[in-house]
Amino acid sequence: MKAILARAFGGPEVLTLEDVPDPSAGQGQVRVRIHAVGVNPYDTYMRAGGYAITPDLPYTPGADAAGVIDQVGDGVAGWGAGDRVYISGTATGKAHGAYAAIAVCEAAQVHRLPARISFAQGAGLFVPYVTAWRALFGRANARAGDTVLVHGASGGVGIAATQFAVAAGLTVIGTAGTDEGLAVVTRQGARHAFNHRSAGYLDQITSATGGRGPDVILEMLANVNLDHDLTIVAPGGRIVVIGNRGRVEIDARKIMGKDCAVYGMALWGIPPDEVRRAHQAISAGLDSGTLNPVVGKEMPLADAAKAHVAVMAPGAHGKIVLIP
Ligand code: NAP
Repeated sequence: MKAILARAFGGPEVLTLEDVPDPSAGQGQVRVRIHAVGVNPYDTYMRAGGYAITPDLPYTPGADAAGVIDQVGDGVAGWGAGDRVYISGTATGKAHGAYAAIAVCEAAQVHRLPARISFAQGAGLFVPYVTAWRALFGRANARAGDTVLVHGASGGVGIAATQFAVAAGLTVIGTAGTDEGLAVVTRQGARHAFNHRSAGYLDQITSATGGRGPDVILEMLANVNLDHDLTIVAPGGRIVVIGNRGRVEIDARKIMGKDCAVYGMALWGIPPDEVRRAHQAISAGLDSGTLNPVVGKEMPLADAAKAHVAVMAPGAHGKIVLIP
C-alpha cells in the first residue's frame, strides 16, 4: 500500500510517499481502507521533532481518517467488513499512522460514520471535535445562555466548537483572519464574526456582549491573545487555552480582578471516560444534524508536505484533507 513516511524529523520535505507492505488486523483489531485523512497542526509539530509525543523513526503521521472496514480480527464484536467509520488514532500509535491507504486500528479506535457524512468530513472528526467538546464542556463548563468567544473559529477546532456551542444554546462570537474564514464562521451559526487581524476587533467583541465580555473564551493562539482575553473576559469567566505557539506575558492581576479561571487542555491527556463521552456527543450531533464538519481543501496523499505548509498558513476555512 501507499503510505507517507517520515524517515527523519525536520521540514515538510521529510514526508515522502512510499510503498509499504499491507498491514493485517490482529486480535481485537480492525483494518480500515482509508478514503480521507485529516491534517492537523500537531502533525507538523511532531514532524519537526520535539513534540510531546515523539514516535520512533521512520513513522507515518496522522490520527484522523475515515474509511471502510475491510478486515476484522479475532475477538472483535459489533464491526463487520463494509462498515463506514472514522478513526481516532491507529494501533501503531494514538497520534500517528493514518497518512496511508490502509490503517489497522484497535476496535475502540473506530466509530460509526453516518451515511450522510462524507469520508472527507469524517476525516476531521476526532482531533477537532473531541478537543472542542472537552474545552467547552469538560473544562469551561459551558451552559446554555453563556456567550462564548471562539478565538480562531475558522479552523478545525473552532468550527467544531461553534457547532457544539450553537447546538447547546450558547451565543457564539467567532473570529477569523480572512473574509472567507468569516463567512465560514457565520455559516456555522455564530451570532457575530470579527476579524482578528483588524484593529479594534476586541472592542467590537466587548460591544457585542453589551460591555460585559464573553463568559467563555476558547483560545487557539494564546501566545498572541491571552493577555487580551483576560482584559475582555466577563467577570467570573473561563478561558481555555487550546492552542499556543510561543511565550506570552500576562498581567496576573487581571485574573484576580476578573475573578476568572484559565484552564489548559491537551487531547492526549483527556481521561478515557471523557473521551468516550465526547465520541457519544459527536455521534448524537452527526445523527441530529447539528454537527457538520467543513472541508476547506482536498489534496492527494502524495502532497502531504504541501498540506503541512498549508495547515500552518493563515486563512483557514475548514479542514485540509488528504485523499489516498
Ligand atoms: P487550524 O485549522 O489551522 O485553525 C487555526 C485557527 O487559528 C484559524 O481559525 C486561524 O484563523 C486562527 N488564528 C490565526 N491567527 C489567530 C489570532 N491572532 N487570533 C486568534 N485566532 C487566530 O487549526 P486547529 O486544528 O483549529 O487548531 C487550532 C490550534 O489548537 C492549533 O494551534 C492546534 O495546534 C491547537 N490544538 C490543540 C489541541 C489540544 O489538545 N490542546 C488539540 C487540537 C488543536 P485564520 O487562519 O483565519 O487567521
